[in-house]
Amino acid sequence: MDVNLRFGMQRDKEIIRDLADKINGLVIPAHILAYQAAPTSVFVASFKNMPYIIDPMTFLLQHSREDLVNDSDELRKSIDKMCNEYHPSLSDLLSNLSAGSRLNLGSIPNQQELCENIYKTQIGSVADKSVTKKAEKYIKRYGRGMATLPRLVVSPYFYFNSTDDPWYGLSLELSRTMKNVCDANSESLEVGVILFLSADKINDGMIQQISSDYASFKHILVWFDDFNESGVSSNSIINARKLIKRLADFSCVEVLYGGYLLMTSAYEGLSAISHGILYSLNKSFAITPGVGGVPERYYIPKFKAFRSLSQTDLILHRHTELICDCEICQDVMQGNPDRIVLFADEPERLRQHFITVRRNEADCIGNTDRDNIVVELRDTYQTYHESISLLPNPDAVVSRSNMSGLEYLNRWADGIEPNIR
Ligand SMILES: [Zn+2]
Repeated sequence: MDVNLRFGMQRDKEIIRDLADKINGLVIPAHILAYQAAPTSVFVASFKNMPYIIDPMTFLLQHSREDLVNDSDELRKSIDKMCNEYHPSLSDLLSNLSAGSRLNLGSIPNQQELCENIYKTQIGSVADKSVTKKAEKYIKRYGRGMATLPRLVVSPYFYFNSTDDPWYGLSLELSRTMKNVCDANSESLEVGVILFLSADKINDGMIQQISSDYASFKHILVWFDDFNESGVSSNSIINARKLIKRLADFSCVEVLYGGYLLMTSAYEGLSAISHGILYSLNKSFAITPGVGGVPERYYIPKFKAFRSLSQTDLILHRHTELICDCEICQDVMQGNPDRIVLFADEPERLRQHFITVRRNEADCIGNTDRDNIVVELRDTYQTYHESISLLPNPDAVVSRSNMSGLEYLNRWADGIEPNIR
């Protein structure tokens, strides 16, 4: 199972460099690359052989005006720059939206031009911008790298509710157009398509239609909208597994914004997941990128989930056997739960710990069978759920409430256990 990191903020760069040998590639959001072109492209190019893809972020065009503008009611700079690269008409179309409205599907510009421009952006961003004058200071900082091509050209995509949704039809047409653009160019790059949908809306007819429509595509990335692993139902898990399994019959399938739960779809043929460095393990259409801070959290390997540092403190004091034994935690914790607070001063070590654990999980999933995973999830629930649910929640707004337990592990087991066709 490959683990790809989603590039989020410029301040993540040092930590990504430290973790480079633990990951398989990068996912670069197009609006960040457009807005901070020189530092981002020089950074990506500075790695020797770091595979990457550029997420075209076109689903942003489906958002309402309020999500796309800044406090001065102007189109956000990153979105504006990205749109200018995609098509000369796009920024104006978005800027001229009236309050509360969103872009009409019919105003999406000429598909051929849009795909050609997106193609140029994706093959040129890291290759060309890394050698401009403006990039010199970043080249000094990160070192001069080789301009490289992305491993796939990702076609524009939109969120859809069903295969009857016109946005589904448009995404499919654009995927076909982008495939033709790739075939007509000399770089010999394959097209990757992103299917952006809700796992709870998937049904057998939809799986049938999607697999028929996308049968000629060799690289499919699935983004399950708002797939919050500790909240999803076992039915949604079964739906997600069914879709992945069907697509993997003819395509290389990856998921965007996945965690441990989705990694277990390795048994359905999933080849890779991607996520951020502590945040955005799941992401919803409803949330505009780049908004809001995230409190520091610790990934508890046995629970396959994050907890705040103050919750982790209480949990590790009650169950010292849950202290992680990765090299980072051995160094920071030295087997003493009191030392968890030290992570607050060195948040980069929280990220190192998480990615180290994630790497091990990804490597182990290929060597364990599905039944063992199910048994382990149920065991962890049995051993820890009651104990954890009785601990006070230090983050609670209402005092005297308790921490949430581990019910999700049973839902996962219920969703992973059944054999699917
Ligand atoms: Zn650790």
